[in-house]
Amino acid sequence: MQFSLPDKNHPLKNAFRLFLFTALFCFVGSHLRQPAELSLFWPVNALLTGIFVRFPWLHRLRYYLVCYGAMVFNDTLFSGWALSAFTINGANVLFILVAVFMLIPRNGPFNASGRVKSALGIFPACLLASVLCASWGTLAQGLLFREGMLRAWSDWLSEQFSTGVLLLPFMLTLPRRPGRLFLRRHWQKGGPVLALLGAIGAAVTIGGGGSLSFPVPALIWCAISYPLWLTSGLTLLTGITEIVLVVHGVMNIQGDDSLLALSHLSSARLGVATVAIGPLIAAVSMDAIRQLNRQLAQRASHDFLTRQLSRFGLYDRLQQLDQNGELHARQAGVLLIDIDYFKAINDNYGHDAGDLVLQEVAQRMQQTVGEAGLVCRFGGEEFLVLLLDRSDAQLLAQAEAIRQRIMQEKFKLRGGAATVTVSIGAASGRLNGDSSEAFNRLISAADKQLFISKRNGRNQTTSASQTRLPV
Ligand code: GH3
Ligand code: MG
Ligand code: MG
Repeated sequence: MQFSLPDKNHPLKNAFRLFLFTALFCFVGSHLRQPAELSLFWPVNALLTGIFVRFPWLHRLRYYLVCYGAMVFNDTLFSGWALSAFTINGANVLFILVAVFMLIPRNGPFNASGRVKSALGIFPACLLASVLCASWGTLAQGLLFREGMLRAWSDWLSEQFSTGVLLLPFMLTLPRRPGRLFLRRHWQKGGPVLALLGAIGAAVTIGGGGSLSFPVPALIWCAISYPLWLTSGLTLLTGITEIVLVVHGVMNIQGDDSLLALSHLSSARLGVATVAIGPLIAAVSMDAIRQLNRQLAQRASHDFLTRQLSRFGLYDRLQQLDQNGELHARQAGVLLIDIDYFKAINDNYGHDAGDLVLQEVAQRMQQTVGEAGLVCRFGGEEFLVLLLDRSDAQLLAQAEAIRQRIMQEKFKLRGGAATVTVSIGAASGRLNGDSSEAFNRLISAADKQLFISKRNGRNQTTSASQTRLPV
């Protein structure tokens, strides 16, 4: 399924298409007229609003005049109206103008997320447009301050409002190729649609005022399972079905001669119960979203291979500590630890062996510093250890303990065992003022020391106080 799009470069063709489209749907709307004056559905206003909002460059006076002309044409030709064809159709154009002004995208092109945002504004836009349209319509019908004015106004308003609220979300969120998209992603998820059909069936069987709300939980299930445009489409179909069933007496919301002899109160109770299930389903989905968020946060803050903090996780943890006032004026020691000749391990034993070494090195580091230090995989084969409240001597001792622990025991690798050594650069300072800035300064100081350790032969610790502890 694909839209036959209006074409920016062919204004005459667009005008002709708009004229035909408007006349066709006016014709359809006219044939849905109740014995009373008003149509059961008058979809043309909402449909045209959707088109003008989706294709904002159609938002020109000439195209509105074309639509107005088509409405008047239809009523003059098929309804036999004369002057009233001009006045009453003013109400339709008023609806379209107000709704389009409120929904049309103001900044840039109309992409999918813009459409969803617009979808949220549909409720107020349709309400205002319907109130104004109904007021104009009642006036044009000559019913002002006459008997039946309120009835006509409320019929007009409720019809326009419900049609707009049902149709526009679907129109504004419908992708270009919904059929293919749906088949690719959602064909196996039939549960929500079956539940929806069951709920409509139950509403028809049980009847009563409460039955209108029976599809709510199924629609919320659809909302959780399907994309927005599909849920909007199913809501539209459900709304139309309910209105048609009520009008034809199949769904008897008075509840007097329903298929099941239930009292009004029973129907209302069932309706209340189904409405209550809605928020419950939403809560379950929210819980699932929170769980997913927690998993994502864990993945972002920890390195997958070594299970230590990632660089992002370290900064996040520091920010949390800082916000709790736990870093202020404390002595912080940073150790930057880089595995020596790590590339050779990869080259000699393979990449998997390299990964094992990274895991084991991280583990030995964590075991040495214990709970007191934060270990972070800073990047590649480089780690950072943060220790708080240590003197320079204690920091150096800790660095040496790490270096010895890694060096002492050979790493068992496929095809042999290897001694792995690390070079360390240490820096410490007090975290005054902006602690993340102070922390960054410590890192760059430690990095300089690490460079010196490497330059001087590796497998050693150098600190900012120039104390070098060789092998
Ligand atoms: P130096 O002593 O100067 O630090 O030498 P080096 O070989 O340790 O350093 P170099 O920067 O030349 O090489 C680092 C290597 O680490 C290159 C890269 O392929 C490897 N590496 C980075 N991340 C991973 C990883 O996750 N797994 C494995 N197996 N290797 C990694
Ligand atoms: Mg290295
Ligand atoms: Mg390195």
